[in-house]
Amino acid sequence: MEDRRFEGKVALITGAANGIGAGASRRLAESGAHVVVADIDGDRGKVIADEVDGLFVHCDVRDPEHSKAAVAAAVERFGKLDLVALNAGISTGFTLGEDFDPERYRSVMGINLDGVVYGVHAALPALRETGGQIIATASMAGITPTPMDPIYGANKTAVVGLVRSLAPSLQKTGVRVNALCPSFADTAIIGPFRAQLESTNMPIMEVADVVKAFMAIAESDGTGECWFVVPGRESQPFTFRNAPGPR
Ligand code: NAD
Repeated sequence: MEDRRFEGKVALITGAANGIGAGASRRLAESGAHVVVADIDGDRGKVIADEVDGLFVHCDVRDPEHSKAAVAAAVERFGKLDLVALNAGISTGFTLGEDFDPERYRSVMGINLDGVVYGVHAALPALRETGGQIIATASMAGITPTPMDPIYGANKTAVVGLVRSLAPSLQKTGVRVNALCPSFADTAIIGPFRAQLESTNMPIMEVADVVKAFMAIAESDGTGECWFVVPGRESQPFTFRNAPGPR
């Protein structure tokens, strides 16, 4: 049976030109959504936008004005905004050792953390109008230690913290915010670590597995939840044991 659960909904996805964001764009479009593909990669971004019959917006998430412009373009084209996936992200490729590079550090934090903060800030006014939702792509690295990429672990943990802290403060507005926390998935981002992962037999998921979890979050009623996605297990919100509740 055809699944049109997102018929007429409007979704804006950052980092949608490749990998998980492209997969989520395709799945949402198949379910009836209008999709805005926001990415720094114009070549691939336009291809995906054409494929999903959506709109491409050039967006560097490190610049708060780009996030505002992407939201404005979505509302201008499709009249409203129901779902924002703040998904753009990169891996670091350096440690805090000899290879540390402050300039690249600022850039990684700008994409993986500032990009999410700017995206939330830009989207909230439109999402309040629809009682919409935000899905931030964090990572397993936001929940468990990530010795191979500590800066990535730091910014993804910050995204998890942001989502958990924002959710209660948004509850009165009807806007939900959740985090997608995948383990390793087969996209370009794992390039620097692929050999290491393969040599230790670390399972690498298909993008489709992560997209399935993304759709489960989009269809859920929850807020402030961090959905752990690991191979071979149904995705579910992670339980922060012994953590006191929201204040
Ligand atoms: P990917 O490299 O395939 O896609 C990342 C996308 O982000 C690309 O389209 C890229 O052009 C875009 N991007 C990069 N910098 C940008 C910027 N400044 N502004 C706007 N767009 C920018 O990788 P992916 O695995 O699909 O990554 C998507 C998200 O999933 C990231 O946040 C990543 O950290 C997270 N994640 C990935 C994995 C994995 O193993 N693949 C695991 C956990 C979390």
